[in-house]
Amino acid sequence: MDVASNLHNIETRINEAAERAGRNPGDIKIIAVTKYVTAARAKEAYEAGIRNLGENRSEGILAKREFFDEQPIWHFIGSLQTRKVKSIIDKVNIIHSLDRISLAEEIQKRAENPVECLVQVNVSGEDTKHGITPQETIEFVKQLANFDKIRIIGLMTMAPLTDNHDVIRQCFKDLKNLQVQIQNLLLPYAPCRELSMGMSNDFEIAVEEGSTMVRIGTALVGNE
Ligand SMILES: *Cc1c(COP(=O)(O)O)cnc(C)c1O
Repeated sequence: MDVASNLHNIETRINEAAERAGRNPGDIKIIAVTKYVTAARAKEAYEAGIRNLGENRSEGILAKREFFDEQPIWHFIGSLQTRKVKSIIDKVNIIHSLDRISLAEEIQKRAENPVECLVQVNVSGEDTKHGITPQETIEFVKQLANFDKIRIIGLMTMAPLTDNHDVIRQCFKDLKNLQVQIQNLLLPYAPCRELSMGMSNDFEIAVEEGSTMVRIGTALVGNE
């Protein structure tokens, strides 16, 4: 399917999910995850009107950037190795995977201007998932007070791979709950307005539970 048709379908489903939850669909950004597809397909997404693209490897962003005259907003959504920070720091707009102080230190060292970051939280506790534990999250955010190159704009999580919608929903509710706790701290460097949650198989649940950024690959641009 062409990206424009997929986008139309996804927007309809987001609008319906937002309506069920009494939310404004305009508060939900679609990030097209282009990690599986060619630069040409990523460009098709841009031409269909999508301005936010997500990649999970530094090589993916660096290679795809070459194909754009006007750059989209690049989201780094994968686990970020400390040694890769230098090569991408001025080429990404938002990092969704801040999950350790050593990474924050490297961003602080390499960034010229403050970088918008989301803290990745491993809500489900699966070993295979990156991110810090929910119990550590508040303390982690507090520890970033002196990192003037880091702005905590939100939290990110990946739901477990399961067909059990209750389990997925609970994961998103837990992230929302953490977000509220962080917002209540009123930290100037951590407004924490964004919730990056929801992928091809669970974005409607995520929207119902307060997502402001859905990261969609397979259902939007495909996976081959
Ligand atoms: C691959 C990936 C996605 C997109 O997954 P789909 O199921 O293809 O929509 C979203 N978020 C992260 C962090 C990913 O690595």
